[in-house]
Amino acid sequence: MAVQRGRHFLQIPGPTNVPDRVLRALSQPTIDHRGPEFSRLTQEVLEGLQKLIRTSGKVIVYPASGTGSWEAALVNTLSPGDRVLMVETGHFATLWKNVAVKFGLQVDFIPGDWRHGADPEQVEARLAEDRRHSIKAVALVHSETSTGAATRIAEVRQALDRAKHPALLLVDTVSSLGVMDYRPDEWGVDVTVCCSQKGLMLPPGMGIHAVSEKALAAAKSARLPRSYWDWQAMIGPNQAGFFPYTPPTNLLFGLRETLRMIQEEGMESVIARHARLGEATRRAVKAWGLEINCLNPVEFTSGLTAVRVPEGHDADALRKKILEKFNLSLGNGLGKLQGKVFRIGHMGDFNDLMLAGTLSGVEMGLALAGVPFKKGGVQAAIDYLAGNE
Ligand SMILES: *Cc1c(COP(=O)(O)O)cnc(C)c1O
Repeated sequence: MAVQRGRHFLQIPGPTNVPDRVLRALSQPTIDHRGPEFSRLTQEVLEGLQKLIRTSGKVIVYPASGTGSWEAALVNTLSPGDRVLMVETGHFATLWKNVAVKFGLQVDFIPGDWRHGADPEQVEARLAEDRRHSIKAVALVHSETSTGAATRIAEVRQALDRAKHPALLLVDTVSSLGVMDYRPDEWGVDVTVCCSQKGLMLPPGMGIHAVSEKALAAAKSARLPRSYWDWQAMIGPNQAGFFPYTPPTNLLFGLRETLRMIQEEGMESVIARHARLGEATRRAVKAWGLEINCLNPVEFTSGLTAVRVPEGHDADALRKKILEKFNLSLGNGLGKLQGKVFRIGHMGDFNDLMLAGTLSGVEMGLALAGVPFKKGGVQAAIDYLAGNE
């Protein structure tokens, strides 16, 4: 492959671009994780995470990927044979379901078309049928990164309340936290599942939970085996600023920096920036005459857009061309969507000109790969951006 100059455009929907400030923070010398400086670091990041997540609940940080965070949410709250209600919103919902099945949980998996979020009414109907309350948890993905469709978590909460069902609500916010509006305390979410490498602008390697009192109480009687993931084993040492095992010290340096950055920008501004970049992207896609994978406009995710390529064309061939010619990485179609969609990440440390560059790469790539499209996507996006400061 030819030598590439200039910055690589990492426009996959996670891992996302790590800001220079954060790279510098990460490159500090590792410190003693049993010393006083480390204890202050832990306290600062745990408090910062509580603010970011808008929760007064306990926050847990694991050295783990998002997949570890999924497993941790299940093993801390459930017992072998418990029923869990999940919805097939896409690839990530399916993977989380697979974890639950491996642990011997009985999953009611509501089928989906990979183009919508979970339907709150369907969830309500399932819960209403369960008069004996054998369903112990509802586990959903807020922003389904494989499809670009979000689940309306606040409406799911209302569905649980209308059904008067006591199930725990577990929510994967891996590509929505630091991107979209999310309020676990207000919405009654019991376990928020997240990780470092998407909206939080960090490298991969850190799993994050926010845990309600109700979930902590459920953990007392939950019988799935757990050791590494045990909340109580973590919460004890955390109180003094320490961990039960070696923490990802340098990622915590990075986290301290990204929390400061989000604080400086303001959460409302962060959310508005992502919404605006998402809208500009969708305008480009429409102008190209291509189809957005998510069919319900109230469910568009702000952090990424999944774009369908016309029948008979291969999204992976298009992505390959774009990577080779323009040093731009786009997300691939996952699971059932392999080859059918490409995903534009517009999440994290990202601005108007980065989006304009990204969309230019896509528009040129469409032409080079021989995918039928109409010109003018970039124009539509920049017209929107210039007209909507
Ligand atoms: C990326 C992602 C995950 C998985 O995270 P890993 O770090 O790859 O284990 C889980 N859920 C969603 C919605 C994601 O986007």
